[in-house]
Amino acid sequence: MDTCCTLGICAERNAIFNMITNGEQEIDKVLVVLDDGTNGAPCGACRELMVQIMPDSYKDIEIMVDYAAGRIVRLGDITPEWWI
Ligand SMILES: [Zn+2]
Repeated sequence: MDTCCTLGICAERNAIFNMITNGEQEIDKVLVVLDDGTNGAPCGACRELMVQIMPDSYKDIEIMVDYAAGRIVRLGDITPEWWI
């Protein structure tokens, strides 16, 4: 499974910070678009941020890992034993 790793800040974290700046607190769904236009899962830093801002419900966040196939996983499935 591809991820969205970079040395800077990912688009996902940028979107989350923008969400918080605009008064929102909860994430329902995530769609990661990779450089080649396919989808993947958020990197570990982005997963960590989602866990930290939604410690009681992060496991329910839906991540569409393959838009073409309609494949969705939950953050709790790919981040099962996170430390918080
Ligand atoms: Zn990331």
